[in-house]
Order: sequence, then C-alpha cells, then structure tokens
Amino acid sequence: MSVSSTPTSARGNHVVIAIDGPAASGKSSTAQWVARRLSYFHVDSGALYRAATLVQLARSAAIDEWTEADVLAGVSRIGFVAAEHTFVPTVGGANVDEELRSGEVTRAVSLVATMPGVRAWVNERVRQAAALQHVVVDGRDIGTVVFPDADLKVFLVADPWERARRRLIQRLGRHPTDPEIAEETDVIVRRDARDATQTVQAADAVLIDTTYLTQEDQVERIVALARAVTHRPDDTSAVDG
Ligand code: C5P
Repeated sequence: MSVSSTPTSARGNHVVIAIDGPAASGKSSTAQWVARRLSYFHVDSGALYRAATLVQLARSAAIDEWTEADVLAGVSRIGFVAAEHTFVPTVGGANVDEELRSGEVTRAVSLVATMPGVRAWVNERVRQAAALQHVVVDGRDIGTVVFPDADLKVFLVADPWERARRRLIQRLGRHPTDPEIAEETDVIVRRDARDATQTVQAADAVLIDTTYLTQEDQVERIVALARAVTHRPDDTSAVDG
C-alpha cells in the first residue's frame, strides 16, 4: 500500500489518535507501540519533514540558501509506504530510515519545517494515510492543525534532562555521564526553541508528563484513553514490546 500524490480524501470512519510533543519526548516509539497494540497504523509526520530535508541536502549543502521552491522541487522523489504497521518515507523507492536520523538531517530539518508549502505537503500525505487506515500520528501540530477533529489527542512532555538521558541511552547503548547529558540537553533545548511555533498543545489534548513514567506505562495510558474514546474496552491483548 502506498500514499501517492492523489488529492486528499476524507478519513471516513477511520480513527485518528494524535500524539504531539517536543523533540525526544518519546512520541514516535510510543505512537508505534500504541499502534501495534490497537492494530492501527503508525504515521510519523516528522519522518516526512526529515525525508524532504534529506532530499534537499543531496541537492545542495548550502542550507542558508534553501528556498521553499527548492525543497518542494525534490519531494516528488519521496514515497510514503505502509511497512508492517508504520507508514515509512522512501526516497527514489529506497528505504532511508537510517539516513533520516542522521545529525545532518536533524540540524537542518527545523528550517525545512518552517516552510508553509512543505507543511502543506506533509499534512496532505498524513491525511492520505488516515484515509486508508486507523492511525496513530505523531508530530508537533497533529491535534491542532492536521486533525483538529482527532478522536484522541495526547500531548507528551518530559523534563529536558530526562529526554537527553533517554536519547543518549538509545544512541550510545550505555548510561551516559552527566557532562554528556548536559551537552545533549543543550541541543534538545535549542531544537525546542526552533520548533516552538509549530509545537502546540491542543486545548482538548490529554497532557502526559513522562519524566517519571516507563514507556510501558505511557503506552498503557494512551491505549486505555483510546479504548475509552473508541468504545472498545473489551480488547484485552497484552503489550508485546
Ligand atoms: O519528530 P522528529 O524529531 O523526527 O521531527 C523532526 C522535525 O520535524 C522537528 O524538529 C520539527 O522541526 C519538524 N516537525 C514539525 N511538525 C510535525 C512533525 C515534525 O514541524 N508535525
């Protein structure tokens, strides 16, 4: 299944769960896990901004000179395909998951995400995915701009030091030192500032502070909230990692 550049269609009866929050708040992994629990599809909107950035980096390294028109000229190479239970961006048909997470892309993506035409392009892709499946979508503005009528909106936050610590454990595969965490906290706080305009908590979102929660607890809460709003309390499937 693939999302092509056909016009936006309505999401019909499909359920949308929106999970927004700042960088490294655990949105993507939580959204992926929740999607698996509910047998929905995960849609990572940030991955589309990253894909547009990756394509543009290959076209030009002079980030300061990038224009919206340049970036939009490259996005036709990007596909959005359903693999397992996640919609994944491809470039020229190839899986680019690792490249999307590179430091180069992470440093440039906030700039690309300020371009209104790029935001419209991402939102169109995300809405097309929701027209195909029940979805759990993670991002910054999903509950406010992309799906203001989402069935459930969650806003995930966590202390920046804790977000930095988790990110480093994931990246390094060991417990980081305090100086390492301090350096990463600085990086995260700066990205928060660059993304501040886009990162908006919807008035009707459920705020979950994950600083002192395990990922399993976060997932359990969101699954319980989702069942409450979709009236499916009878599903007793277990967390499967
Ligand atoms: O979530 P992730 O860190 O992969 O997102 C990458 C970047 O994409 C963010 O730093 C932000 O600039 C942008 N983004 C956005 N709106 C979204 C999702 C991501 O502006 N809905």
